[in-house]
Amino acid sequence: MSTPSLRERDARVIAEIGRLRFSPLSLVGGRGNRLIEEGGREVLDLSGSAGPAALGYGHPAMVEAVERAVRDMAGASLLLYPNEPAVSLAERLLAVTPGSGERRVWFGHSGSDANDCTVRVLAAVTGRSRFISFIGSYHGNLSGSMGISGHTAMTHTLPRPGVLLLPYPDPFRPKFSAEDVLALLDYQFETTCPPDQVAAVFIEPLMSDGGLIVPPHGFLKALQDRCRRHGIKIVVDEVKVGLARSGRMHCFEHEGLEPDLVVFGKGLGGGLPLSAVVGPAEIMDHAPAFALQTTAGNPVATAAGGAVLKTIEREGLVERSARIGKLFSDGLRALAEKHEIIGDVRGRGLAVGVDLVADRGTRDPVPATTTAKIIYRGYQLGAAFTYVGLKANVLEFMPPLTLTDDEAAEGVAIVDRAIEDVLAGKVADADVASFMMW
Ligand code: PMP
Repeated sequence: MSTPSLRERDARVIAEIGRLRFSPLSLVGGRGNRLIEEGGREVLDLSGSAGPAALGYGHPAMVEAVERAVRDMAGASLLLYPNEPAVSLAERLLAVTPGSGERRVWFGHSGSDANDCTVRVLAAVTGRSRFISFIGSYHGNLSGSMGISGHTAMTHTLPRPGVLLLPYPDPFRPKFSAEDVLALLDYQFETTCPPDQVAAVFIEPLMSDGGLIVPPHGFLKALQDRCRRHGIKIVVDEVKVGLARSGRMHCFEHEGLEPDLVVFGKGLGGGLPLSAVVGPAEIMDHAPAFALQTTAGNPVATAAGGAVLKTIEREGLVERSARIGKLFSDGLRALAEKHEIIGDVRGRGLAVGVDLVADRGTRDPVPATTTAKIIYRGYQLGAAFTYVGLKANVLEFMPPLTLTDDEAAEGVAIVDRAIEDVLAGKVADADVASFMMW
């Protein structure tokens, strides 16, 4: 009997409710910006594992910081005792995040728990029970964070009562303009959603899982101004696109936002489970909101976070993300000249989406099988990437911030070939039957 593959063992023991599988890739390691699959082949990581691999795999700064923290302090809890890596990281996060007055940092393990905590704290502090967020938004999978999300991946979950889901204006498929959405909000405020009952608005400054949508300029600022007038708190979810990913330290800077609370995750821990909320002391010190978790802010994860922030600064990763991101997306944009299927290439920095269309005139999305086939063929050709979007038609690229010029060019060449091969019928429906997410 042959030894089962990692893939087969995975299917037997890892719960399907906790996994998304976009290709047959199974990992035994990683090096630099490459994943090493079972059997030893190296695959260029254009997914960044959907965000956490901000520094790629085995970055010396991460290894050194985490090794030391494991040796000296693994097992310590920030709940009971201050620890050096957590306090230093909080100081560093406050230093890089704009804001005034006394502020505090809360640590968690995931984007889900950080947004969940934020919902609970804001409801407790403001005494208001309504929230505003967007159709297509994804803020997490705990009851609070899922309840304010509007993604079709969660159609079996009802939004939290009192959540107003607005359309996110999409410049490529402009069903609702920025003005339409603001008018709808005004009408809601006048009628069924009294603004003085709304605790906060949750904003993705670039809608990620909903399809890598860059909002029309000025929309989010106008939304912020509308909400602020009514004492509604502005929460910006930077989990996926924050910390240098967008070519700025914070993605909200592109939109001129001045958030009350900022939520971080994914890349913050460089792969270790770590999230953070930064907000004003009068909100974050509200004890009855009770947001304690035994291993939150543990020294190993926060040491990793410290290494990520220091490396962003030391290696100039904000500028690098802007520069390589432009190179990469320009390369993809050039492919649109020969591949009619590419309807739009968009994003900021190294958060890039390729919107696949069945028809350039109508901009109708391709069927999800086509997207899945391109991912699959890309994997066969040596690059890992995934897809997002309410219609599963947007290729998502979130590579490590350490991606090199050559790797960006290599990635573009693989995407080019993958599209060509899929359109030439080289991937069968059966090949991707198990990689259809929604
Ligand atoms: N917020 C955003 C914007 C996200 O993209 C995600 C995950 N895709 C989350 C929150 C949830 O993060 P996590 O999966 O770490 O719980």
